[in-house]
Amino acid sequence: MKALVYYGPGKRAWEERPKPVLREDKDAIVRVTRTTICGTDLHILKGDVPEVENGRILGHEGIGVVEETGSGVRNFRKGDRVLISCITSDGTCEYCKKGMYSHCEKGGWILGHTIDGTQAEFVRIPHADTSLYRISEGVNEDALVMLSDVFPTGFECGVLNGEIKPGDTVAIIGAGPIGLAALLTSKFYSPARTIMADTDAGRLASAKELGATDTVLSDGKASERIMELTDGRGVDVAIEAVGVPSTFELCESIIAPGGHIASIGVFGEPVDLHMERLWSQNITLTTRLVDTVTTPMLLKSVQSGTLHPERLVTHRFKLDEIMKAYDTFSHAREEKALKVVLES
Ligand SMILES: [Zn+2]
Ligand SMILES: [Zn+2]
Repeated sequence: MKALVYYGPGKRAWEERPKPVLREDKDAIVRVTRTTICGTDLHILKGDVPEVENGRILGHEGIGVVEETGSGVRNFRKGDRVLISCITSDGTCEYCKKGMYSHCEKGGWILGHTIDGTQAEFVRIPHADTSLYRISEGVNEDALVMLSDVFPTGFECGVLNGEIKPGDTVAIIGAGPIGLAALLTSKFYSPARTIMADTDAGRLASAKELGATDTVLSDGKASERIMELTDGRGVDVAIEAVGVPSTFELCESIIAPGGHIASIGVFGEPVDLHMERLWSQNITLTTRLVDTVTTPMLLKSVQSGTLHPERLVTHRFKLDEIMKAYDTFSHAREEKALKVVLES
């Protein structure tokens, strides 16, 4: 089969690899019908995720058709159409029993990280019963592939941890796919106002189309502008969806008393926590790695037509054009790319 293989910082190849085989009785082999490239894959290619070994097939998002199942798989059979979760969970360890699949002792984020991933014609999924979700015919497949990672991440780490309530004023810092997924899923809770900030005017235009009430260009004055927009009060919920010190500090500077700062970004360096100001402000700060516990709920919202994750898809390629798709996605600003979908 063909697969996208990582060969160290800056090096990737689309090449022939052996088709995966069942290794454990709870494994399934899935034929990938759609996958996508994640910002995390670009981090890996930059060398930011050193535990990824040379020769690893990348990708942790996708949908497909079950090709083969181990003797211990009960919920799936050959021919079933499935959504692959970016988080693998055995469903039985202490963390899984708390609903914290991201920290599963036998799983967590392993696909395209410590085991071969989904940017291939076939992928081996361990703990298939608890790591795959059945999908029905006729549902938009572009929408479904956004549920592997992007939407559970924006929703769980941003919207749920931020405890958005009806009438709230929300700021989402970062209008990339994850920030926009937080925007779309924040609507479940009817905030009064959603302000999006980004350095890219093109992404802010997308945010406006997707329902942001206000957009703010992050040019060093974003904090002042957001305070002006809120009559000096600040926001009830600040969602950080970038992962750098300046965006985190922006959240700290605009949070209203009693507010929630929900951090989603993947941080590579320390940030300052301004306790000299925040100690008396009754704020809550949360961090989280996506658990994908809300995937079944998000699937229902897509199936019922309430949620339209496919609105984030800007580019489509055939799976064997994945090298080109990576070029496009790594120049997201110039290419006006949000999510690229690869179809087999
Ligand atoms: Zn991802
Ligand atoms: Zn577990």
